[in-house]
Amino acid sequence: MLIVMHHKAGDKQINAVKEAVKALGLTAAPIPGSERTAIGVLGNKGYVDDSTIRDLPGVQEVIHVSKPYKLVSRDFHPRNTIVKVGTVEIGEGRPPVVAAGPCAVESEEQIMKTARAVKKAGAMLLRGGAFKPRTGPHTFQGMREEGLLLLEKAGKAVGLPIVTEVMSPDTVGLVAEHADLLQVGARNMQNFDLLRELGKIRKPVLLKRGMSATVEEFLAAAEYILAEGNHNVILCERGIRTFETATRNTLDLAIVPLIKELSHLPIMVDPSHATGKRSLVPPMSKAALVGGAHGVLVEVHPEPEKALSDGPQSLTFAGFDRLMGEIDRLTVFLGWDE
Ligand code: PEP
Ligand code: MN
Repeated sequence: MLIVMHHKAGDKQINAVKEAVKALGLTAAPIPGSERTAIGVLGNKGYVDDSTIRDLPGVQEVIHVSKPYKLVSRDFHPRNTIVKVGTVEIGEGRPPVVAAGPCAVESEEQIMKTARAVKKAGAMLLRGGAFKPRTGPHTFQGMREEGLLLLEKAGKAVGLPIVTEVMSPDTVGLVAEHADLLQVGARNMQNFDLLRELGKIRKPVLLKRGMSATVEEFLAAAEYILAEGNHNVILCERGIRTFETATRNTLDLAIVPLIKELSHLPIMVDPSHATGKRSLVPPMSKAALVGGAHGVLVEVHPEPEKALSDGPQSLTFAGFDRLMGEIDRLTVFLGWDE
């Protein structure tokens, strides 16, 4: 529920409305930037009779927001959220943020080399999986805690904040201790216990879209994290399952501007998992940014043909360097740096 106040409503009237909300067993939620003109209401009561609120002095309108997400919606938070990851701001949008690194941390040498190369090319964040959600149990499962520490070391060595996946509620503490941005993978988008746990920390979270999740389910999943108090959430479109098998997934780029209409949270795009094919990553990275994405997440490997996971979609160092040059030219051409 959204209560719109008359612009001249005073503190007394606002407090009376908040009391009436409480009397209904509901919670008044602050709406950033519009505390005096709108009051958000959260609760779990099903149908709400608003007659005790509607006629109070100072109340202009009571709007029932029937979406499964509220804190995530623009109704409750009209201005863009800017999430800070280390010193990098995501959500402001211009110039866009590029996160890059291998699918998985495989060795100290591999992650150090990659960290140096992506930093030199202009990446702002270093990615690398340590806890890997692999389809089958007989493939490389990631270096787990050891990989996390190597990624942290590499990030520190080159001065880049790091992003890595967290798979279970019981490792949230460990990953939060070492990573700057905690990724929830597509397969865990609806792991509600994990989302709740991530809501209790204050480190930012990168929530990837489930491979068959609708936009509403995606935003409702983000709501779990915000509802626990962590508002530092970045969304990430990484392709969805469709009838098409020519690409690994189908990149649903239209949700980028759509999500910007529906939500105040930043949105990034992962063209690597979306396409599964190295040659498609640069064009789709640029398309995502032109479509309004606040950043892209790209897989890069020193020797993609030897990668333990996702080699076919990983860019070489030279390929990533070229892509960064193209993004730089786009940035100047479109005035994103102004
Ligand atoms: C990843 O980014 O390494 C990953 C596993 O991605 P997704 O969860 O989108 O498949
Ligand atoms: Mn991968």
